Amino acid sequence: MSNCSEKPTIIFDMDGTLLDLAYDDFIWNDLLPIRYAELHNCSIEQSKATLYAFYQEHNHTLNWYSSRFWTSKVEVDVLAMQIEHKNKVAFRPNCLELLDYLKNHGYPMWLATNADCAGLKFKLEHMGIADYFDVIVSSEQIGHAKEFIEFWQGLNKLHPFNAKHVYFIDDTEKVLNGAKNYGIEHLFSIKQPSSAKAPRVTCNYPMLDQLTELIAHLNPAEVEQKYA
Ligand SMILES: [Mg+2]
Repeated sequence: MSNCSEKPTIIFDMDGTLLDLAYDDFIWNDLLPIRYAELHNCSIEQSKATLYAFYQEHNHTLNWYSSRFWTSKVEVDVLAMQIEHKNKVAFRPNCLELLDYLKNHGYPMWLATNADCAGLKFKLEHMGIADYFDVIVSSEQIGHAKEFIEFWQGLNKLHPFNAKHVYFIDDTEKVLNGAKNYGIEHLFSIKQPSSAKAPRVTCNYPMLDQLTELIAHLNPAEVEQKYA
């Protein structure tokens, strides 16, 4: 499986795509409001109102994805809080099955995440999936969030790729829009990023439910043999 030059590169998002977003929802929407209320001596309602105002202000920026930013903003060590609850991090359905299939069939795999370097590091170590990927990059390294074309320009500069020969899977529509603006054509969203929330009904991109559904889009003939 060493010669993989003819296979397209598969670029994955991490949270909400490979990993269940229920963990992040728990950290940011349940646990942080409790910790913030304890620290700042306010009610949970006040805490949630304050935090949601911060969330609105910083959503889709690099700050949003930065543990350091949030730690200084809310005075709760959010990285330590995430690590404390790392046992709640979980794979989305058929994640390892897809990664194994792609690895065994010689597809180059990259991980491109908006998680900051510290958050990325602990999740990769905890879940043990780093070895699947030829390239692992955080938008913190590039200096732009994936929502913006500058991220993709920066990624290509760091790790050259052919946008026409890439499949990119991400649960955030604004991120997919950024990739589309850059010229990536094969784009997929996720039907249910968080197991704690209802599946999406509509999306502007084809949605994967079980991650192994991607295989049918890569090589329909092979799928008939392997998964018939
Ligand atoms: Mg995501």
